[in-house]
Amino acid sequence: MGTFRTTAEWKQLDANHHLHPFTDFNDYQNNHGRIIERAEHIYIYDTDGKQMLDAMSGLWCCSLGYSQPEIAEAVHAQFQKLPYYNNFFQCSNTPAVELAEKLVQMTPKQFTHVFFTNSGSEANDTNIRLIRRYWDTKKQPKKRIILARTNAYHGSTIASASLGGFEFVHDQFETLPYVQHITDPNWYHNGGDLTSDEFGLHAARELEKRIDLLGEENIAAFIAEPIQGAGGVIVPPDTYWPEVRRILNERDILFVSDEVICGFGRTGNMFGCETYGMEPDLLTFAKAVTNGFQPLGGVMVSDKVAEVITADGGEFGHGFTYSGHPITCAAALATLNIMERDKFVDHVANDVGPYLQKQWSALGDHPIVGHVRGVGMLGSIELVRNKESRERLEGDQKSGGICREFCVANGLIMRAVGDSMIISPPFVSSHAEIDLLIARATKSLDQTAEYYSV
Ligand code: PMP
Repeated sequence: MGTFRTTAEWKQLDANHHLHPFTDFNDYQNNHGRIIERAEHIYIYDTDGKQMLDAMSGLWCCSLGYSQPEIAEAVHAQFQKLPYYNNFFQCSNTPAVELAEKLVQMTPKQFTHVFFTNSGSEANDTNIRLIRRYWDTKKQPKKRIILARTNAYHGSTIASASLGGFEFVHDQFETLPYVQHITDPNWYHNGGDLTSDEFGLHAARELEKRIDLLGEENIAAFIAEPIQGAGGVIVPPDTYWPEVRRILNERDILFVSDEVICGFGRTGNMFGCETYGMEPDLLTFAKAVTNGFQPLGGVMVSDKVAEVITADGGEFGHGFTYSGHPITCAAALATLNIMERDKFVDHVANDVGPYLQKQWSALGDHPIVGHVRGVGMLGSIELVRNKESRERLEGDQKSGGICREFCVANGLIMRAVGDSMIISPPFVSSHAEIDLLIARATKSLDQTAEYYSV
């Protein structure tokens, strides 16, 4: 720290020694990344001092923006008091206890317990372990299959990446044999000639068909994000979740709501499952729980599951050195206190969320925007050459990457997923800043249209 280097030196050093997540290593040798040096409010700054409006809240995590000194103060105070202790062997620590209480208060009423991890990936691994203990303890050992969806993202450990639904990822390792995928409810990509509502029912009933095909007695759980984030902010048709709810209500299958993105206000309710009227048995959280400032994730466990595995489960052979780390828990407590005190969920539901959606949906008038989706502080647009036929700008699914480069040049961080652009802006964005986001996005879309000669 403190060493002066030029941007070129930072980039070269980075390329020489640092392997980045979800990055083409070879490409990165030639096309170096941006080195982010500091951040303030909703803006990040690179080593050249270039300011960029961060419409992704980091990686969907800094919902309250980058300037939250109370979180830093809570972490600092915890460092003075107890910088580390583990939660194994009949021990606990006060921030972990308080955070558990707080999370139980904030989550839907069925949740009575929490298991802490360091990340969303580990939390989903933990889900698999909890699900197995639940069914084994209930003497239903045949219940092993976990259903998930294509284009889902549940993490990058072997288990959580198996739950995820990206083919190119699955091609790079041996996936778990007991995970199966059904089609994601992306009407624009998968809906064909069906209306959005018809397709919502159709996609939900794929779950029913798969359960019936494999036998309910063999299905342990269904895991889903309320809105699929990394898959392209896939807002499901209105008919989708009510039909899934009906299907699950008629069957004895655990439901896991992966709220790593949707949790803590992003959809205008505290949790995405509340936005869609779902009642999960297990709930995955991470990211915004500490505003991204410390690595913390976990699983909320419902009374139904907790009772079974507590009464008769024996020792649970699972846990991490940093499960319930006092520093990360102190950061989470400070974050959640700010979120409650300053009523950020109301703010997303009634102010900044509706404003963002109004301005974002107007992008649908742009010549290369074929479809607009969004809920709360989430949004996506599909880039096309022809709105009627949905023909893509080019067959290679790379137009998002081209648009992203224009965005960065224009001082805006938007993420590309194939031919779509996605956003997840901080809740602290003002209306004027949302206007700035839209203005920079529009300029980038104009440049993308020109690039593709539309
Ligand atoms: N679930 C979802 C829905 C996610 O979006 C992510 C991360 N983007 C994860 C799980 C994995 O979380 P982590 O990167 O903290 O392991």
